[in-house]
Amino acid sequence: MTPSYNIASIPGDGIGPEVVSAAIQVVEKLAKTLGTFQIEFTHIPWGTAYYKETGRYVSEDALDTLRKFDAGIFGAVGAPDVPDHISLWGLLLAIRGPLQLYANVRPVRTFPGTKCPLNTATEGIDWMLVRENSEGEYAGQGGRSHIGQKWEAATEVAIFTRVGIERIMRFAFETARSRPRKLLTVVTKSNSMRNGMVLWDEIATAVAKDYPDVTWDKMLVDAMTVRMVAKPQSIDTIVGTNLHMDILSDLAAALAGSIGVAPSSNLDPTRKNPSLFEPVHGSAFDITGKGIANPVATFWSAAEMLKWIGEKDAAGKLMTCVENVCASGVLTPDLGGTSNTQGVVDAVCAEIEQIK
Ligand code: ATP
Ligand code: MG
Repeated sequence: MTPSYNIASIPGDGIGPEVVSAAIQVVEKLAKTLGTFQIEFTHIPWGTAYYKETGRYVSEDALDTLRKFDAGIFGAVGAPDVPDHISLWGLLLAIRGPLQLYANVRPVRTFPGTKCPLNTATEGIDWMLVRENSEGEYAGQGGRSHIGQKWEAATEVAIFTRVGIERIMRFAFETARSRPRKLLTVVTKSNSMRNGMVLWDEIATAVAKDYPDVTWDKMLVDAMTVRMVAKPQSIDTIVGTNLHMDILSDLAAALAGSIGVAPSSNLDPTRKNPSLFEPVHGSAFDITGKGIANPVATFWSAAEMLKWIGEKDAAGKLMTCVENVCASGVLTPDLGGTSNTQGVVDAVCAEIEQIK
């Protein structure tokens, strides 16, 4: 019997529905063509329209709803008329923490058709970024006092736990070990942040003892931005906190060539909960509805999803098809091409047909 998967599809806002629909088309085509697995997508309407109707970004039983699926594919959240911290906490952060999707994994690679802007990396970039996704600076703790007054104060408390750091550190060492160069850089800011960041350094040193085959080093986040630009070839896998890696991964995506191709996986490495796959980019309201959103980041996210649920071979084939299409010059305007979203979808589907 062929394996069969149920996937939650949460297109969300802005270009989210455009890129998620694009990804579903190519994955369904792939499943049909290969015939080695079955996949069904169930639409979930969470996002800003849902919020305006119900006062909530997700349904009350959102976590139980998601737990019924093997994985989820997510587009974007955020709208011009809702403050970003409300939409982000309403949807993504309301899911990531409770589902313990503690590892956010972002492969960053210069893609065919994209150009790495660095003259220090003429052959392009190939990195793996691992972001702690469940605590730290985004713990949501803190508050405001004397609101509106001259002496108003606000605290934003970063919470780091031994359990939280150790599990992401082990995940990062495992990731580095699985890659050919077996290189890991642990990013912190332990010169000026003397509690949580020092604990990160201590745990990195302890965990490293279990991975003698991995070459690793520690780096302050400010120095890391310089290294990413000046010595990109000295980097392979990077691990860091929620905030630091949020920033470094945008930098990395831009250095690799474009944010329009960057994927991300929100993983529960224990596999107790379904993992969630999404492009790095946001809702991009400036191009919403124009039909020109680059679907490649979501294709790549879908391929990561296939890999995670056990369809490694299909994932590899999908990526080959996407890379062939990009290399042939079928590109959206953000990559200097003249194709629209559906044009890229059609080209990838045509490429998939050639597999057999
Ligand atoms: P959010 O608040 O949800 O992060 P945003 O508009 O602030 O959304 P992005 O959506 O990441 O941030 O957009 C940043 C820029 O990159 C915009 O100019 C957008 O048009 C462009 N962009 C982002 N994603 C894509 C894509 N898939 N294809 C083409 N251009 C994109
Ligand atoms: Mg934004």
